[in-house]
Amino acid sequence: MLSAEFSCEQVLAMLNEYVDGVLSPDLCKELEAHMRECRNCYVLVDSLRKTIILYRKLDPPEMPQEVETRLFRVLNLEEFITEPE
Ligand SMILES: [Zn+2]
Repeated sequence: MLSAEFSCEQVLAMLNEYVDGVLSPDLCKELEAHMRECRNCYVLVDSLRKTIILYRKLDPPEMPQEVETRLFRVLNLEEFITEPE
């Protein structure tokens, strides 16, 4: 069912790098593809997003705007999660 090559464990291991903006574009695409198809990882990243929002209320954001935009875009793709090919 999952077309992404990564396991959930691998996604979680790369999530910090993804959020820090140091992950390569190719790996970012793989990560995003996995999150679109994997409900577990989607929920986890959604929790991360909420943490980021809380964090930003306390301190100036350290997350690059581009990365945050990518992350939020992934999280807004719920319609793609329901019908994996
Ligand atoms: Zn997963």
